[in-house]
Amino acid sequence: MAATPRGTSPVPPDARPRLTVLSGPSGVGKSTVVAHMRKEHPEVWLSVSATTRRPRPGEKHGVHYFFVSDEEMDKLIANGELLEWAEFAGNRYGTPRDAVLQRLDSGEPVLLEIDLQGARQVRGSMPEALLVFLAPPSWEELVRRLTGRGTEPPEVIERRLEAARIELAAEPEFDTTLVNTSVEDVARELLALMEVV
Ligand code: ADP
Ligand code: 5GP
Repeated sequence: MAATPRGTSPVPPDARPRLTVLSGPSGVGKSTVVAHMRKEHPEVWLSVSATTRRPRPGEKHGVHYFFVSDEEMDKLIANGELLEWAEFAGNRYGTPRDAVLQRLDSGEPVLLEIDLQGARQVRGSMPEALLVFLAPPSWEELVRRLTGRGTEPPEVIERRLEAARIELAAEPEFDTTLVNTSVEDVARELLALMEVV
């Protein structure tokens, strides 16, 4: 199946969403799709989150994440520096507020790649945001991708799959769903939703 949008809500032309949130279960392909999209459209600005998770091989501080200690995360939260934050599978993740607001103020398209709890918080604080759910073609394929990535030990994969069941059930809360069968198709659909092309 191609990346067919399901149930896109109409957006009046004078209230175009400048902020797009991409969510979906761990392993569905969010990072892959975003990387593919940004190769051709580097003007799409992706927020760099703070996380207490340890870097995977190849991940760079300030590029993939700001890798912070528990104490640093406590401070970011206490000082109100995060637009949203959540605990996911044993680590905390949050979106630095100022960088996002500055980009939005200058009229640039902004993309957040965050979990369901974060997406719900953004919906509450910025109702004009467009919430996009990335779904796997099937449960079996999600398990295959998450396991095949080879970045987490079995107990962490188990935790992420538990979270995935909850995230998949929340799909109707989103404005639209893209099914990640083809990375190229989904990247194209996402760009169209963001009105970049
Ligand atoms: P997420 O960021 O959602 O956790 P990743 O982007 O890390 O997921 O993708 C998880 C795994 O699935 C990676 O090994 C990636 O190469 C693979 N993958 C992503 N999209 C597809 C696709 N459309 N078809 C097959 N494999 C995919
Ligand atoms: P990972 O550890 O695989 O990079 O990310 C785990 C989950 O955390 C993914 O669902 C990812 O989208 C989410 N995530 C990444 N950054 C943030 C963030 O800033 N806030 C929230 N709420 N979730 C995030």
